[in-house]
Amino acid sequence: MKIVVKVGTSTLAHANGKVHMRRTSALCRALSDLKNSGHDVILVSSGAIGMGVGKLGLTEKPTDIPTKQAAAAVGQCELMYVYDRLFSECGVTVAQILLTGSDFSHEDRHQNFSNTLSRLLELNVLPVINENDTIATEEIKVGDNDTLSALVAESVKADLLVILSDINGLYTADPRKDEGATLIPCVYEITPEILALAGAAGSSLGTGGMQTKLHAAQIATASGAEMIIASGEDPDILYDIANGKAVGTRFFPKKEA
Ligand code: GLU
Repeated sequence: MKIVVKVGTSTLAHANGKVHMRRTSALCRALSDLKNSGHDVILVSSGAIGMGVGKLGLTEKPTDIPTKQAAAAVGQCELMYVYDRLFSECGVTVAQILLTGSDFSHEDRHQNFSNTLSRLLELNVLPVINENDTIATEEIKVGDNDTLSALVAESVKADLLVILSDINGLYTADPRKDEGATLIPCVYEITPEILALAGAAGSSLGTGGMQTKLHAAQIATASGAEMIIASGEDPDILYDIANGKAVGTRFFPKKEA
């Protein structure tokens, strides 16, 4: 299977932006195992801005563009350093690819990075993708990594997109506010009723919320991929997913794709 896994800042970093080593190591081990068992694995990782905040010792996520982009430049370096070290311990080689929205809308650039991704997979490398936050402006950026991961899944014709998040799936209401909220295990069609379930939730260091995840689900399922939203709290959940166990919310691909 070709699997794209997206991981958010809330999984990779503590609230102060420092690396969450236990989770990040568990994530790298689980992804290495998926790869060792014969799957093609691509990681879409957030965390550049969050880790930049941690590394620079800023007290909160910056709001102005130059500081955000500076934090991303510092944090992306830290992120790849941590991944390179942890994946190397598992015998896996990583590559960094930084994209913006215009790389998807320009045919030749899209073709170029798709070719590079395919070649990296053939070379047994695990590509790690993020938005190129240091140059992305409002006009050209994808804006959130949920959508970015779905665009990547569509480009590589992935079979499965897994979004690991600080929430373990789509609920009938916001479980942080409503005790009666229940998890929706399967979504066969993304109807207006399903879209209406997305609140604007998001962590203090991350970007997305349920809205961006449902948008990602629309792109991924239309391209023929299945998508799962699951908790990133314990990345070993990836083993359950690989073994076909029911976790989180599973969005089924559109039939004709
Ligand atoms: N590209 C951003 C980062 O690495 C994150 C965007 C997102 O979390 O959706 O910090």
